[in-house]
Amino acid sequence: MADSNALVELRDVRKTYQSGSLTVEAVRGISLKVQSGDYVAIMGPSGSGKSTLMHLIGCLDVPTSGTLAIGGDYVGTLSDDELAELRSKRIGFVFQQFNLLGPLSALRNVELPLLYTNGSRSERLRRAEEMLTRVGLSSHIRHRPNELSGGQQQRVAIARALINEPDLILADEPTGNLDSQSSQEILDLFDEFHQLGRSIVVITHDLEVAERASRVIRIRDGMLVEAA
Ligand code: ADP
Ligand code: MG
Repeated sequence: MADSNALVELRDVRKTYQSGSLTVEAVRGISLKVQSGDYVAIMGPSGSGKSTLMHLIGCLDVPTSGTLAIGGDYVGTLSDDELAELRSKRIGFVFQQFNLLGPLSALRNVELPLLYTNGSRSERLRRAEEMLTRVGLSSHIRHRPNELSGGQQQRVAIARALINEPDLILADEPTGNLDSQSSQEILDLFDEFHQLGRSIVVITHDLEVAERASRVIRIRDGMLVEAA
């Protein structure tokens, strides 16, 4: 039985990549729970399996073995449609490279996740504008990504991640490309989200990021490093 109180539960999860004749064991037996309202930082050296772990938690990839449950539902039992719905409604993703669509305005980028929901176009645009206002970009809604600074682009990406009111933000090195002032602004937005009782899992090299989290998990060679 999956723990229905846990937002995310991994049990002995492994992920093996096969590239040609080479086998890479990126994640080697990780068990982990994230509770509702948790703010977890995942730290570890480059190549230790952090991004792979985040892809697994976010259901962007499937484990080679072991189980993953989100909100008590085993992900392996869900259909593709159910998985897509879970990803789009419950999880907001934030990446180091922002991953915005270049030809689209900030407003259109933030509107994107709403295209799969009901509601009129004017309602979608109203919500997208409101979310951009919340991240401090009300005067930049018509700008395209290349007309924005890195910090502004990441704020657009966060607005996009939050537009469907997810339970969980998954962020992979969200401040990795930002100056310290912009990093602080991003972390302040995460704090606001966390204070609403929502959950965050953030992968980071940055101790300042980890200090905002409620707990830090360390990973090395695809395994959790037990606290001393
Ligand atoms: P981190 O995010 O901690 O730097 P990753 O999860 O990106 O680590 O990578 C862990 C290991 O898995 C590395 O050895 C990496 O080369 C390998 N890896 C990651 N993604 C793939 C992939 N799609 N195909 C093959 N190997 C991969
Ligand atoms: Mg990585």
